Amino acid sequence: MTELRFLALYPEQMNIYADRGNYIFLKQRCEWRGIGFRQAAAGPGEGFDPAEHDLIYIGGGQDRDQVLVAEDMLKTKRDPINDAVEDGAALLAVCGGYQLLGHSYQLGEQRIEGLGLADLETVREPGPRLIGNVAIEADLGEGPTVIAGFENHGGRTYLGSTAEPLGRVISGHGNNDGDGFEGVRRLNMFGTYLHGPLLPKNAWLADHLIALALARRGGAAPELEPLDDEFEREAHASALAAAERG
Ligand code: GLN
Repeated sequence: MTELRFLALYPEQMNIYADRGNYIFLKQRCEWRGIGFRQAAAGPGEGFDPAEHDLIYIGGGQDRDQVLVAEDMLKTKRDPINDAVEDGAALLAVCGGYQLLGHSYQLGEQRIEGLGLADLETVREPGPRLIGNVAIEADLGEGPTVIAGFENHGGRTYLGSTAEPLGRVISGHGNNDGDGFEGVRRLNMFGTYLHGPLLPKNAWLADHLIALALARRGGAAPELEPLDDEFEREAHASALAAAERG
């Protein structure tokens, strides 16, 4: 049986706004299609074999959670994450997890060293937290589509010259409320400020990740069997309408 090999990083420490719901959704969509879902986790102090996991997930975390995991992540997980991504594994990092993909997160005097896997930096600047419903336009190779969700972050993220955003803000704040970019993408790695339930609100994105993960070992991305996505379409429409209302 085809199997998706999923790995959650720090599921206990990095899971705010039910970011964990994203992988319940991935699992469900695999199971509905008869695709196996092998779920593993790596927490503090634990490394992993990059060849054993095709979809890696890092959820959001408050500043204090990030301080706690950042050093451990750099020490025990940076190399396997890098190896997996370079080898075509898919990775989704949300909010606090997204910030940690970059070079650093500057919080006043304190500098949290990031993984340096994406060319970006995050800083705490004076100003309110960036909170609200958000919609972005993204093209992941299948034509322009809209991703809708919710953001809540104090950090402002600035992409370096070699980084590509995940999308452009239609409504909401995005990376820093200034340059109109949201998230980052490199190879099959995606970082975004859009929280759980990101994937239930954007089922096509969940399927995109599933297809990329399955393709890692099998070559071309498989044609996934369509599902009855009536509820998912409604969830997307309602998230989008909320973002448009501002
Ligand atoms: N701690 C980060 C910030 O506030 C991320 C928070 C989050 O994951 N929601 O910028």
